[in-house]
Amino acid sequence: MTSAPATLSGRVAVITGGASGIGRATAMLLAEQGCRVFIGDYRLRSENHQAFQVLGIHASECDVRNVDDLQHLIDSAADTAGRLDILVNNAGIGMVKQTTEVTESDWDNALDTNLKAAFFGSKAAIPHFLNGSGGSIVNIASNAGLLPRAHDPVYSISKLALVGLTKSLALCHAKDRIRINAVCPGPVGDTGMMNDDLDAAPDRVFAEQQIIAASPMAKALGRMTDPAEIAAAVLYLVSDAAYMVTGTALAIDGGKSLGVPPR
Ligand code: NAD
Repeated sequence: MTSAPATLSGRVAVITGGASGIGRATAMLLAEQGCRVFIGDYRLRSENHQAFQVLGIHASECDVRNVDDLQHLIDSAADTAGRLDILVNNAGIGMVKQTTEVTESDWDNALDTNLKAAFFGSKAAIPHFLNGSGGSIVNIASNAGLLPRAHDPVYSISKLALVGLTKSLALCHAKDRIRINAVCPGPVGDTGMMNDDLDAAPDRVFAEQQIIAASPMAKALGRMTDPAEIAAAVLYLVSDAAYMVTGTALAIDGGKSLGVPPR
C-alpha cells in the first residue's frame, strides 16, 4: 500500500504560538504534509525538541506582542527557506475577567497578542507572498469570535475583531492571490489555555463536564475537540483544495455557536 502524496510539499510556513496545543498540532501536521515549518513562541518547551527535530520544524523565541520580534521571525524564515507560502496567526491568551476588573495592561496584553499580532504578522508576510504566486494566512480565532461570551468580554472582543480583520484583509488581498481565513474553535482539550481554565475552576471534573455540555456535538461525543481536529481545518484552508476560499470564519466548535442547545 502506498501512502497519500504530501499536499504541501515544498511550501514554507510560519506558525506563531507553535510550542503548545493547537499551534503545535498544526506545526506537526503541516510538517508531516511536506511543509517546511518555522514556529515562534515566547515559551519554547524542551519536550518538543525531539519531535520537532524529526519533522524538521525550526523553533525560535518570539514575543508576538513585539512587532520587531514578529517581523524578524517571518523575515528570517523566508530568508532561510527562500520563500514563504503560509502564515498561521495562532498565538493567543485568554482573559477571564469582568469589565470592571480589567486593567489597561490586561486589555493591552489580550489585544496585542490576539489581534495586533495577527495584523502585523500579516503585514510582515504579505511582501514575501508577493514575490511568488500568492499565499495563505489562517487566523486562529474562537467561537467567541462568532458569538461573544459573558464570562470573558475582552477575549471575545479580541476574537470578534480578529474575525473582522480576517474578512477585511481577505477583501484587500484577493487581487494578490493571498487568501486569509479564520478558524473558530470551540473548547479544545489538551491545550495550555484549556488546562489553565480547568485548573482555575473549583471542581475540575465538573467544569470539564459543563464545558462539554455547552457544545451539542461535544456533548453527543462525550469529549472536547482535539487540537489535531483544528490542525486538519488549517491544513484544508492552506491547501490548494481551498483556492477559492477566502474571508471565511470556519467554526469547529461542535455546534456551540449555533444557538441554545436542547436541554
Ligand atoms: P496554548 O496555551 O496551548 O497555546 C498558545 C501558545 O501561544 C502557547 O505556546 C504560548 O506560549 C503562545 N503564546 C501566547 N502568547 C504569546 C506571545 N505573546 N508571543 C508568542 N507566543 C505566545 O493554547 P491553545 O488553545 O493551543 O491556543 C491557540 C489559539 O487557539 C489561541 O489563539 C486561542 O485563543 C485559540 N483558541 C483556543 C481554544 C481552546 O479551547 N483551547 C478555543 C478557541 C480558540
